[in-house]
Amino acid sequence: MRYAIIADIHGNLEAFQTVLADIKTQNATHIVCLGDVVGYNANPKECLAIVREMNIPCVKGNHDEYCSTDDPLEGFNPHAADAVHWTREQLSEEECQWLRDLKYTRMAANFTMVHATLDAPQRWGYVFDKLAAAASFPYQNTQLCFFGHTHVPVAFMRDTAVRGGTYSKFKIDPSKKYFINVGAVGQPRDNNPRAAYVIYDMDAGTIELRRLDYDIATAQKKIRAAGLPERLAERLEFGR
Ligand code: ZN
Repeated sequence: MRYAIIADIHGNLEAFQTVLADIKTQNATHIVCLGDVVGYNANPKECLAIVREMNIPCVKGNHDEYCSTDDPLEGFNPHAADAVHWTREQLSEEECQWLRDLKYTRMAANFTMVHATLDAPQRWGYVFDKLAAAASFPYQNTQLCFFGHTHVPVAFMRDTAVRGGTYSKFKIDPSKKYFINVGAVGQPRDNNPRAAYVIYDMDAGTIELRRLDYDIATAQKKIRAAGLPERLAERLEFGR
């Protein structure tokens, strides 16, 4: 089985369609999503409709939560908050209910899926370093767990200590545990504007990060036409 693992689509239809086309060429047998289908970019409804039509198993991201509720936007920067307000106006009650029903963690095959962290998935902490990864590992009951939220693809590994770093393709060592960020489809933040996702080949025991050029100009045009903050259009071409 070959799993395509995607995260942080964030309403970026151009990036999402490009990733889906690549997934086809990669002969993936399954697709799962680590949350944040909506928020930031201009096509939340369209991206959500694709995830639902394709029956892609999905966990809840912070934007999925805040865009589908009236919760106060604590911890959001002003641009992100503007995008949440805009997205709330786009989504129907039925779409919001679907987002609200998402779970914080779930299993697929032999791995765990979570948006942010396993130690407190509903608190939306950010795992950028091995200290934060070390807090999550004790709650990880599977050898592999995939996460999103930071939009920065990094793999953490635990044996006697926790180590971490960037990756492109590696083979899983059966004696170690892995906590792997798959990067973002719709708003990469590692200074690389190309859409990111992972292919996990269960039989070969390999993890491969895919990076794809997509039609950034069209995604930006839509953000500007929607009246979303200019900063959200700009950042796509810089990947930050
Ligand atoms: Zn996100």
